[in-house]
Amino acid sequence: MNGLPILDISGLCKSYGAVRAVDWVDLHVDRGEICGLIGPNGSGKSTFFDCVTGLARPSAGAVKLDGQDITGWSLNDIAREGRMLRSFQKTVVFSALDIEENLVIAGQMFTFPGIWSTFGIGAAARNRVAALRERARELIRIAGLWDVRFQPAGKLSGGQQKLIQFASMLMPEPKLILLDEPMAGINPKLIERVVESIRLANTSFGVSFLIIEHNIDVVTSLCKRVVVLDQGRKLAEGTPDEIVRNQAVREAYLGG
Ligand code: ADP
Ligand code: MG
Repeated sequence: MNGLPILDISGLCKSYGAVRAVDWVDLHVDRGEICGLIGPNGSGKSTFFDCVTGLARPSAGAVKLDGQDITGWSLNDIAREGRMLRSFQKTVVFSALDIEENLVIAGQMFTFPGIWSTFGIGAAARNRVAALRERARELIRIAGLWDVRFQPAGKLSGGQQKLIQFASMLMPEPKLILLDEPMAGINPKLIERVVESIRLANTSFGVSFLIIEHNIDVVTSLCKRVVVLDQGRKLAEGTPDEIVRNQAVREAYLGG
C-alpha cells in the first residue's frame, strides 16, 4: 500500500463543448512528494484540479486517491472526508474571529461533522476541542502567525489571510493538498513565509502537495518534479532544471 502514489490519475479528459480543456492526462503524486503543475493560461490546469476534486465531472479517465477509486465523487464527498483538500484563488476567512478560532472551526467542520460540532456536549466534546486548540497553536507557529494570533482575521493582510487559510486546511490532517496559484497576489516578503509553511507541512506532517504556480522560483525551490500542461495535454515532465531547459516548454510557456 505504501508504495502506491497518494494520487494516481490516468487518461483524464474534460471537454466543454468543442473545447478539450483536459486531453488525456496521466499524472501521479507520490506519497510525501511536492509536485508542481505549470503551463500557460488556459492550458487546463484549474480544470484538471476541478475534475480531480469533484467540482467538475471528468468526461473520461480515473482518479485514485490513496489506492481508492474516487472518480465521479462530488466535491462535498471528497472534501468532507478530509483526505484531499484544495485551495481556490479567493481567500475566505471568518473575519471577526481570531486565528485560533478560525482554525478550530475548520477542524470541527471535518473531524466532527453534523450538529454535535456546533453544540458539542460532555467530556468527549471538550477533549476534542482541547486537542483541536493544541493543533491550531502548532499550526499558527508553523505559519509564522504567532505574534498576531489574537487579532481578528479580517484585520490582517491578504497574504496573512492566505496563511490562515493554509493553516486551516491542515487542521483535518489531510494526506494531500492541491494548491491553485498559492502565491498569486501575495506580497513578495510573505512568499518566502508561504513557501516555508508548505515545506514544513510536508516535512513535519507528511502532507503531499500538487501545486499550480506561475512563480518558477517557487516551483524550483519546492518541487523535485514538475508536470507541464499545454492545450490540455501533458507537454513535459521532469525536474525543474530539465523543465526550464526543455525547448518545447520554453516555446509554449517560458517565452522562448
Ligand atoms: P488554466 O487554469 O491552465 O489557466 P483552465 O483550466 O482555467 O486553464 O481553462 C482551460 C480551458 O477550458 C480554457 O480554454 C477555458 O476557457 C476552458 N474552460 C474552463 N472552465 C470552463 C467552463 N466551466 N466552461 C467552459 N469552458 C471552460
Ligand atoms: Mg487556472
